[in-house]
Amino acid sequence: MNKEEIDLHASLKQYFGFSKFKGLQESVIKSLVSGDNTFVIMPTGGGKSLCYQLPALIKEGTAIIVSPLIALMKNQVDAIRAVSQHDGVAHVLNSSLNKTEIKQVKEDITNGITKLLYVAPESLTKEENVQFLRSVTVSFMAVDEAHCISEWGHDFRPEYRNLRHIIKRIGDNIPIIGLTATATPKVQEDILKSLDITDANTFKASFNRPNLYYEVRPKTKNVDSDIIRFVKQNEGKSGIIYCLSRKRVEELAQVLQVNGIKAVPYHAGLDAKTRGKHQDMFLMEDVDVVVATIAFGMGIDKPDVRFVIHHDIPKSIESYYQETGRAGRDGGEGHCLAFYAYKDIEKLEKFMSGKPVAEQEIGHALLQEVVAFAESSMSRRKFILHYFGEEFDNGTGDGGDMDDNVRYPKKQHEAQDNVVV
Ligand code: ADP
Ligand code: MG
Repeated sequence: MNKEEIDLHASLKQYFGFSKFKGLQESVIKSLVSGDNTFVIMPTGGGKSLCYQLPALIKEGTAIIVSPLIALMKNQVDAIRAVSQHDGVAHVLNSSLNKTEIKQVKEDITNGITKLLYVAPESLTKEENVQFLRSVTVSFMAVDEAHCISEWGHDFRPEYRNLRHIIKRIGDNIPIIGLTATATPKVQEDILKSLDITDANTFKASFNRPNLYYEVRPKTKNVDSDIIRFVKQNEGKSGIIYCLSRKRVEELAQVLQVNGIKAVPYHAGLDAKTRGKHQDMFLMEDVDVVVATIAFGMGIDKPDVRFVIHHDIPKSIESYYQETGRAGRDGGEGHCLAFYAYKDIEKLEKFMSGKPVAEQEIGHALLQEVVAFAESSMSRRKFILHYFGEEFDNGTGDGGDMDDNVRYPKKQHEAQDNVVV
């Protein structure tokens, strides 16, 4: 090891207490530390944050980190403060701060104490913030959840579109690192173009989750009983059941409760206190099952979720991958069971009908992929990975036999049947 490598390992140990880098982290960090534009595609849980946190801590100046979620920013800031001498090492700059707090943040940055400054994109657009950041030493810009820049991503945020322009105004030669867990080639291309970093060193980790078992079943009017049976067969294990609507979440949670299953509902229509309580009950294992809309999951890190059931098929393969990805984080068993009826696709199409035409077209294309996935008789894993631009060989690849189509090959005509409720 040369000195630089020793230093990186020493910093990793000093700041984060880890003795080894995970996956591609070290190469990513070297790229960023050397001042190159850098692009990172790693699945959720891959360890993306450290790819910019460590360089931020060791480089001169303040790193600006753009992130869409205030709750996630706060978590990261708290974690970094916990291992540092000075609370000022990391700050969040957003609209919730009062004048005194803003003054403190700016003072810490000016004095070179602050190594990481987290901002929401809408705060970064504010002229006074741009003016201030122009006047200080910025080590690099990190754009986390960079797929928010793309209309082809699952979480498009128009404010992300302006980022390139603003970054240019803050400084001309600031290195940029973009990070995302969305691996579709289209979204990647959008990110590189929109951030104007087509020259970036790109690091892409595999999206294969060998321990997850993928299964799609036809959805009939007996779907509730099918779910109850599945949950009872997995008694005592933690699981998440996703439904499309809040109403269905409430109903299904009740049906499960009546059947003696410890379940709670979770959706954005519940007040914050109830949501917090239900989430904690799940994390503390007072209940086994959360029945939820997609409002549940972002930032929740329960390592031993043993199954994820989709009562309704999601609106894209990315969503499916993200949501099923919450199972088996610890590397143990993770059963992903989706119920599919074409009628649900029509419902999803109908939901989009009020949206702008461009958005509808994208939504339609994404849904067609979901249909292809659900109705396909090929390996689920191969399909998903191919969607993410990755070739997978079931004979040699990890987890090659971990899906219904590989284990129980269907005859062609069966594969095309789908039961409409
Ligand atoms: P992502 O943003 O890619 O979803 P995170 O940055 O939130 O992932 O990291 C996921 C988890 O991995 C965190 O709990 C983090 O502490 C852990 N982690 C990151 N790097 C390492 C490492 N080098 N060794 C061990 N654990 C790590
Ligand atoms: Mg992250």
